[in-house]
Amino acid sequence: MSKIYLMSRDDYGADGMRSAVSEAFSRFGVDITSGERVLLKVNLVSGHDVARRVTTDPALVRAVASYVLSRGGVPMICDSPGIDNFRAAATKAGFMSVASELGIECSELVDPVDTTRGTDFHKIALSRKVLEADKVINLPKLKTHGQMYMTGGVKNLFGCVPGRLKAGWHYNVGLNREKFAGLLLDIYATVKPALTIIDGVIGQDGNGPTSGEPYNFGLIGASPDALTLDFWLCRMMGGSLDDYPLYRAAVSRGYSECKLDPADVEGDFDSEHRFEGVKFPKTRSMRLLPPLPFLERLMTSRPVHIPDRCIGCGRCEAVCAAHALKHENRKLHFDYSKCIRCYCCHEMCPVKAIEFKESALLSLMNRLGVRS
Ligand code: SF4
Ligand code: SF4
Repeated sequence: MSKIYLMSRDDYGADGMRSAVSEAFSRFGVDITSGERVLLKVNLVSGHDVARRVTTDPALVRAVASYVLSRGGVPMICDSPGIDNFRAAATKAGFMSVASELGIECSELVDPVDTTRGTDFHKIALSRKVLEADKVINLPKLKTHGQMYMTGGVKNLFGCVPGRLKAGWHYNVGLNREKFAGLLLDIYATVKPALTIIDGVIGQDGNGPTSGEPYNFGLIGASPDALTLDFWLCRMMGGSLDDYPLYRAAVSRGYSECKLDPADVEGDFDSEHRFEGVKFPKTRSMRLLPPLPFLERLMTSRPVHIPDRCIGCGRCEAVCAAHALKHENRKLHFDYSKCIRCYCCHEMCPVKAIEFKESALLSLMNRLGVRS
């Protein structure tokens, strides 16, 4: 049997979503039994209108929840946004209305419980609800990502770390992207989603995961193996696997998923297709230098403020675990010696008032055509 299944979908019409979901479950033999508690891990990074294409589309979430209900399961729509009030963010993203329409739970991932199953990280606190669910169905959005190059199935599970503990992890791991990717691999191995169904109908490119531009990929991808799915999608987006921290971390662990075999892919969407003009954030170079802290800082873009756009909400300062920025009267003061380039401030800014500025060395490398 193939490892991943790619389906063409040009829009979020109910029939198309229903058929994609039903095909995904049946193709991989994922059964839902009566009374099973099935956690739908959506992507609710922060509160955004559906049209921004930041969050998993409610049409896909509705189709998955309806499928689980039709099999006698008990679906729960869950996530843990970085800083926003859960209810407000879930309302904006359309999850609350799906939940009330279907009479199901939509709730925040809280109550951290230590797990000890990681390879590199032996103690990771994940939400009790995730650990106690009978099944997790992973519903990410396909986007580029300032810190991690792109985000798909594996990165989406970072939301299983409750609330502000996420910022704490960014701080603990620091500048090293591969180390952070190792954390993501450990979380993925712990959560073990039964199935990942990625919303790639309209995702984002550019300064994702929240400040990018909508990009019509026109597909729904499904797999019990989120890692292989992410690697294929990175390739199809025209990304370089060598620049993708998750891939590099998986290679260094010797994971077999790193060997991409066309025979592993099925579906009516051509896996050899390459999306044109997808812009990846050029925020760092992964390839050329060893991960030494002083070189990492030189080779990684820093966040900069665009004052004209700022509304003075203070979310950037509130989310910065490194205490590397101060907000005062719509002015930001960065302390770049403390900044770990996690870009949480950029992610949480609601009005794209924080962008990336390349270091001189990185800029030179990009000009010379050495991809970051
Ligand atoms: S200033 Fe921004 S990028 Fe730097 S550590 Fe703080 S949140 Fe992360
Ligand atoms: S930069 Fe963005 S997050 Fe920070 S205060 Fe301004 S609008 Fe708010």
